[in-house]
Amino acid sequence: MALSDAISQSERCNRCGYCQPPCPVFRATGVESSCGRGRIQLVKAAAQGRLPFTQDYAPILFECLMCRACVEACAPQAETDVIVGIARHEWFMKWGRNPVTDILFRELLGDRSKLELAASLAFRGIDWGLAKAAEVTGLLRLQPRAGVALEWLGSPPKKLLTKRLRRLRLSPAGATRRVGYFVSCGMNMLAPDGGEATVRLLSALGCEVVPLPNACCGLPAYVYGDWDAAAQHLLDATRVYREAGPLDAVVTDCGSCSSHLRHAADLIGLDSAEVDRVRELTVDLAEYVEMIAPPPPEPVGVHVTYHDPCHLSRHQKLTTPPRNLLSSVADLRFSEMKEASWCCGGAGSYGIEHVGISRNILARKMGWLEETGATVLATACPACITQLAYGTRRHELPVRVAHISEILARAYGVDLPPLEAPAVEARGNEAVRA
Ligand code: SF4
Ligand code: SF4
Repeated sequence: MALSDAISQSERCNRCGYCQPPCPVFRATGVESSCGRGRIQLVKAAAQGRLPFTQDYAPILFECLMCRACVEACAPQAETDVIVGIARHEWFMKWGRNPVTDILFRELLGDRSKLELAASLAFRGIDWGLAKAAEVTGLLRLQPRAGVALEWLGSPPKKLLTKRLRRLRLSPAGATRRVGYFVSCGMNMLAPDGGEATVRLLSALGCEVVPLPNACCGLPAYVYGDWDAAAQHLLDATRVYREAGPLDAVVTDCGSCSSHLRHAADLIGLDSAEVDRVRELTVDLAEYVEMIAPPPPEPVGVHVTYHDPCHLSRHQKLTTPPRNLLSSVADLRFSEMKEASWCCGGAGSYGIEHVGISRNILARKMGWLEETGATVLATACPACITQLAYGTRRHELPVRVAHISEILARAYGVDLPPLEAPAVEARGNEAVRA
């Protein structure tokens, strides 16, 4: 696909400006090129040859969260994220591809064992205090993004999800369904508690769970513009689905994975029966639980609010299943948060690459979170979990950020320790209020 393919989409934009107020980036910067209209008109100008498509387009393209808040507000449905995606692809092919992106998108994300090895070594290094040593010796100043990433990550998990799954009973007696579990890279490395709760929940609901030996769904490569790598990741997924044998569904607890597995073929122009099978079998966890499960039998006495991951609420229109499920849990108090579908500013690695904008967006979310008084913030995407947990630390909020599966598993009788809010450590001037 070339930049000129963005022209027909961008023609839908009538420049009304309704996409300005809901755009989190525009609200942070106040700059027209941050909102849907601005980005679309600038891409259109380059596609029509009225402006040179130079490297200077990077901030216009890469500061977009691809959250689709603008699309939701747009009557003619000009799809900013799709247009930006096409332009990013062109930009990547001209200037973006380098040995580092090749290693990341083609080597590590294309091979789970290599990615796990890299993550384990990095986490081990943090545990051994190498990060602290780098900070003390001033080495982190040479690579400031590494310092931001470490602060964002917090304490890394002790064990990857795939290692934890090995000791679980995945085939309960009398199982009536056979479901694949698509292991998201993010759940595996950043939110294994949520992943384990998902698998135990499905098992408690009478499913034989087959963890798939999948690599990445392809979303990171797609959003950076490396569509060849993204296409390869999707083709790898089709093979994994096929080799798993008959499945009732493939469940994933990562909103980004479910969205991308359903939409990737259309976005990058792949068409085959196997790709269709991936699209048809893939289902989000809350959507699936709502479909197959009776009301939850066990009370869970917590005060919860819910953050909608953009890839669930806007890309897949899945806002009611998580709320219906949480509301059906006895003894659970649910408080709706204002602007619950307002992006958290996580967007993969956005919080590391666009620190100022991301923290501004996060501050707004933390303000609404604090207003609810909830002690648990549930969501359904590992990037959101990491970003929101970083937000609660940064803003000193005594709130536990959890995957929704961690609440639902308890409601369906899975024996897990109580969901306790973390103790807040005073961080002086580092804490920033919304
Ligand atoms: S993208 Fe949609 S909402 Fe924004 S200016 Fe264009 S038509 Fe209006
Ligand atoms: S996708 Fe989100 S960040 Fe990008 S222009 Fe639209 S509202 Fe703004």
